[in-house]
Amino acid sequence: MNPLPHDAGLYVTRSQRYRWCHREKEYVGFATLPNQVHRKSVKKGFDFTLMVAGESGLGKSTLVNSLFLTDLHKDRKLLSAEERISQTVEITKHTVDIEEKGVKLKLTIVDTPGFGDAVNNTECWRPITDYIDQQFEQYFRDESGLNRKNIQDNRVHCCLYFIPPFGHGLRPVDIEFMKALQDKVNVVPLISKSDCLTPNEIRKLKDRVREEIDKFGIKVYQFPDCDSDEDEEAKQKDRELKESTPFAVIGSNMVVETRGQKVRGRLYPWGIVEVENQSHCDFVKLRTMLIRTHMHDLKDITCDCHYENYRAHCIHTMTSKMNTDNRVESPIPILPLMKDEEVMDS
Ligand code: GDP
Repeated sequence: MNPLPHDAGLYVTRSQRYRWCHREKEYVGFATLPNQVHRKSVKKGFDFTLMVAGESGLGKSTLVNSLFLTDLHKDRKLLSAEERISQTVEITKHTVDIEEKGVKLKLTIVDTPGFGDAVNNTECWRPITDYIDQQFEQYFRDESGLNRKNIQDNRVHCCLYFIPPFGHGLRPVDIEFMKALQDKVNVVPLISKSDCLTPNEIRKLKDRVREEIDKFGIKVYQFPDCDSDEDEEAKQKDRELKESTPFAVIGSNMVVETRGQKVRGRLYPWGIVEVENQSHCDFVKLRTMLIRTHMHDLKDITCDCHYENYRAHCIHTMTSKMNTDNRVESPIPILPLMKDEEVMDS
């Protein structure tokens, strides 16, 4: 701000002084809106629901623990082979509150033990799609109810699908699973336990999986394009991220020492595989995308695309049923109307 003019002082009227003080601020003030939104969001906290799917033993729990540095599966009970034959897909949910630099995140991990483990895996994805639909239904009911202030949002924002590293591409169960989920959730395919493969084998498997995803018309999560005004470094990172899919990942619950540093890794007789070393695997890319760069986009697509499709379908079914039956029948319970004074109180 410029200093007061020399001849100011006692001879300057109050309105002149006001005009002078504000002549440089030729804005109304809405430029502070992002700050207001930022403050409000930080105060409210964030939530994110991540689902993991893939047959047991592919390293799902280990990877989740490595991603969020929490032991989410302390009390997991592993089933015997006999128990697994008759086991159906279960859905389990773990929630943790994480805080980083004052920003709170309520993280929910939805696990799907039993998927792909049975002898007959026909439609084994059904309990998973039903679960996703139930969360949409719950949200739809809450949103259409009277008190919409504290709606608990349990919609699944992303599903990490674990592809085994041992095969020659996608198996029929992988194709069926991803196709069944593609319009309900953001599917991110991963090549699990990639320390079992050489760099050349990883390249070949990635190419094969990408080809098959195209061939079978599977819709996996598409990274949005970088904004045109982003700098070259950001654009390069974005290109690398897209070219690395499906991410080849490694998980570990162990901290090992290498080059005088403690790192999360796997210790083998022939050496150490480092989870966070970008020349060993894509773990860092996955974590960056999931937590640092694309969490919001995953939530937006869930809300604007997958949930909107579900909602539109629901409303369409409702209206066509009303038209054919010629009577009002809604899948959402119609609550009794409140009296005026009750409305005022709430
Ligand atoms: P889940 O049943 O899919 O949750 O699999 P777990 O996380 O329980 O892992 C099953 C086994 O695989 C355990 O012995 C893990 O130590 C091991 N494991 C987990 N991640 C990896 C990995 O990235 N590479 C290798 N080689 N083994 C892994």
